[in-house]
Amino acid sequence: MVACISSEETEGFVLLSKNAPKREGSGVSSPIRAPRGVKDIIPPDAIRFEKILKETEEILALGGFQKILLPLFESAALFSRSIGGATDIVEKEMYTFSDKGGDLFALRPEGTASLLRAAIEHRLADPGKIVRLSYAGPMFRHERPQAGRLRQFHQIGAEILGPLTPSDDVDLIALIHRMAEAFSIPSWTLLLNNMGCPACRPVYRETLVGYLKQHEKDLCETCRHRTDVNPLRVLDCKTPSCQAVLETAPKITDSLCDRSRAHFGQVREELEGLGIPYTLSHRLVRGLDYYTETTFEFVSDALGAQSTWAAGGRYDGLCQELGGPDIPGFGFAAGIERLWLLREKAGTLPVSPSPPLWLTVFPLIPEARPSALRLVRQMRNLSVPSAGFFGSGKIKSAFRQAERDASRFLAFIGEDELAAGTVQVKNLETGEQTSYALKECSRIAEDIRNAVLSA
Ligand code: ATP
Ligand code: MG
Repeated sequence: MVACISSEETEGFVLLSKNAPKREGSGVSSPIRAPRGVKDIIPPDAIRFEKILKETEEILALGGFQKILLPLFESAALFSRSIGGATDIVEKEMYTFSDKGGDLFALRPEGTASLLRAAIEHRLADPGKIVRLSYAGPMFRHERPQAGRLRQFHQIGAEILGPLTPSDDVDLIALIHRMAEAFSIPSWTLLLNNMGCPACRPVYRETLVGYLKQHEKDLCETCRHRTDVNPLRVLDCKTPSCQAVLETAPKITDSLCDRSRAHFGQVREELEGLGIPYTLSHRLVRGLDYYTETTFEFVSDALGAQSTWAAGGRYDGLCQELGGPDIPGFGFAAGIERLWLLREKAGTLPVSPSPPLWLTVFPLIPEARPSALRLVRQMRNLSVPSAGFFGSGKIKSAFRQAERDASRFLAFIGEDELAAGTVQVKNLETGEQTSYALKECSRIAEDIRNAVLSA
């Protein structure tokens, strides 16, 4: 999708006022909703989402991967050059836009191309040594939104660059296998294939084109077009009417050269040695053109149609293709939303965080406000999450607000308390009420902390 916004349209308020929908007759603007396929992650899910990300990152850190923070948009050419022109991502799914300078950019649809670009730019990749990098964050693809498929979604991924051996492929797959185990991913399968190398793929390509041409009449229009421009991509087609032809297509693994066959053999043998089960999948070419040799996907029956939760492979030519040195690479990306769905099914979602507020402080009279503000500040200094309720003078409203915030304690300061320099602190769970001197901050904080953490 190409969404070009002209500079005239983007002139600040013009754009805002032109697009803001109005309720008829009322003069009041109707609410603007999030774009289709774009989800807000609201409390308390936001903290859980971050925890899922963190726990996945911790597994990558166990494998020695160092985090890199990448930009959300890049030159559109980076993706068309790496992912490939005749792929779903570049042909249909990319959010591209020209900026005011007339340069064409794209919101990143995936992380590998950006990571390689950054690794080349900052000379992190070196043909003589291995470098392990990981990234995480939102990705953007204009797809048909459905369960587990969004237009803004989140990925966590890792790439290993350097003088790699097939054992490095196995080692990273083993780290993803660790995720499956640590998060109790239900009914997962590892699908495995080898896509050959520049030496043997052209031979297979010809065999495949011959076969596809023979069965042209049974293929969809996209497949017929792709037979000419990018025949391997045809194997990835999901159109039901194409499936019979594609299932009986010649297998790439039957056309591998000696080197690729040895690579594939070693990967299989070493996975077996580690006790990681896999299923061969000869149509697993992945939706990106840069793959060579090993490709894999971790799928799960529990996800329905969008069954892949982590996927990746070897990309030995990509670094050079992007103008860098000739350095092999192997990487993967997992979808955080899909990990969430799977962990929800498995009952392994991170536990709910402790309540956002432990203490609500309410001045019963306006004169008590400064003392209430001071108490809130002192409690925060002592690491007790606290907030004041400075609204209406009714204690009922303060109770209601505390309840809404799931606050465990309500402190109030009225006329008597102000005169005596005290504060009443009520445990909202037990109903127990204690009077403290306002000076006894540490004791108040300690009593609250003990009650919250022992609950
Ligand atoms: P799919 O076959 O599901 O379209 P893909 O091959 O396009 O996946 P990759 O580009 O390899 O996926 O991305 C890696 C992972 O990112 C996927 O396995 C999936 O978990 C997640 N992912 C990809 N596209 C989306 C999306 N639109 N919404 C949510 N998650 C996604
Ligand atoms: Mg896709």
